[in-house]
Amino acid sequence: MEEKPKKQKPPTWQSVTGVYEILPEEAPLWEKAYAVVKNAAQFYDFKRMETGIIENADLFTRAVGEDTDIVTKEMFFIRSRSHRWVLRPEGTAPIVRAYLQYGMSAWPQPVKLYYFGPMFRHEKPQAGRYRQMQQTGFEILGGEPDPIFDAQVMLVAFRILRDLGIKDAVTDVNSIGCRVCQPNIKRKLVAYYKTKESKVCPDCRTRISRNPFRLLDCKREECQEIKKEAPTILDSLCSACKTHFRDWLEYLDELKVPYRLNNSLVRGFDYYNRTVFEFFASGTKEESGLAVGGGGRYDYLMEMVGGRPAPGLGFAFGLERLVSVIKEKKNGGGRARRQHIFFIHVGDVAKKRSLGILEMLRKENIPVAASLGKDALGKQIVLADKEGIEIVLIFGQKEVYEESIIIKNLKTGIQETVLLRKMVEEVKRRIKNE
Ligand code: AMP
Repeated sequence: MEEKPKKQKPPTWQSVTGVYEILPEEAPLWEKAYAVVKNAAQFYDFKRMETGIIENADLFTRAVGEDTDIVTKEMFFIRSRSHRWVLRPEGTAPIVRAYLQYGMSAWPQPVKLYYFGPMFRHEKPQAGRYRQMQQTGFEILGGEPDPIFDAQVMLVAFRILRDLGIKDAVTDVNSIGCRVCQPNIKRKLVAYYKTKESKVCPDCRTRISRNPFRLLDCKREECQEIKKEAPTILDSLCSACKTHFRDWLEYLDELKVPYRLNNSLVRGFDYYNRTVFEFFASGTKEESGLAVGGGGRYDYLMEMVGGRPAPGLGFAFGLERLVSVIKEKKNGGGRARRQHIFFIHVGDVAKKRSLGILEMLRKENIPVAASLGKDALGKQIVLADKEGIEIVLIFGQKEVYEESIIIKNLKTGIQETVLLRKMVEEVKRRIKNE
């Protein structure tokens, strides 16, 4: 009778709630995502910039906004006697801070930067929503506030999605106006919502006086019908914003980048003006609500953090969500590279030469598994079998002296001895036929 496996006690220490950890089996998908992002950055000439994980809290209070959820509810403060430091909740404000700090306004404009890295938000952890997550962001800083750049950043984002095998992504787009038209739009929103004050959720009641744009972003059931009838921002844009919006969409049409108008898209940051957008990977569970990325224009952000006015725009992807989409699609866009062969050594002399032989294969880009810590032939074969590998290479005493190696197919049981110098060639031939 088979012995029942003993129930294991859970380990004493667990990861902190909401922290996303990358396990080895998922790591190849992450590597794929990093490689695709780097490739797009190189192609569109964005330079890598990594800012610190710890920042001054006031940077985000000023840039992201005092009344936003991120600042009021989600920042992780670091205990310090003399500083108000936080773990950064997002990457754009730090990049703009760095642009000013390192005198990048003196560089040829616009400056195009990209980054990878962990961001921290004290959100209620749930599927797709983590407290530590990774973003990759692309930013265009300085130069002219030309709508051609609004189209270009979206093109970069779409290339990344396409290269990851996410071919049916869609983008929600909207314009949230500028300093000229925003006061008028806010007035209209406030006037409308004042008449509905008793019917909206408690958060929206506060938003009426503090942050009227966020009324359009409310996800609560009781506010949805009211939101449908609310005045739309697009109807009240000033003529300059209307032209910018129209030109941006014309570029997108020209580039065949798919988009859909979303009147209630405002994004959760105060620094945006005019262009805002969010990416959804349609055809997957992400379509039902969670965006894989988002961004927009932030022409006032430089001033908000103490610099001279200069335009800017950009976007960020959540890497956990991208990885989850490519995993779900199982489109091969990032499937773990399968090991085709397993190397087995028999005896001490053979073991000493194992690393060299593995290198011969790896140099040729042939993924090979091995269990160098186990010496018994049987145990090594069981492991190869467990990994579902059909072809094993067996290297023992006799083979050491003959400068040869055995190639065995575990499925058919057929084995053949080949000269070591022919090993790579022979292995390649068999992998091709597998
Ligand atoms: P945001 O900075 O809020 O515009 O977010 C940009 C992207 O980062 C989103 O579209 C998500 O893909 C991702 N993201 C934001 N917050 C979280 C979170 N708490 N957990 C996982 N991913 C997130």
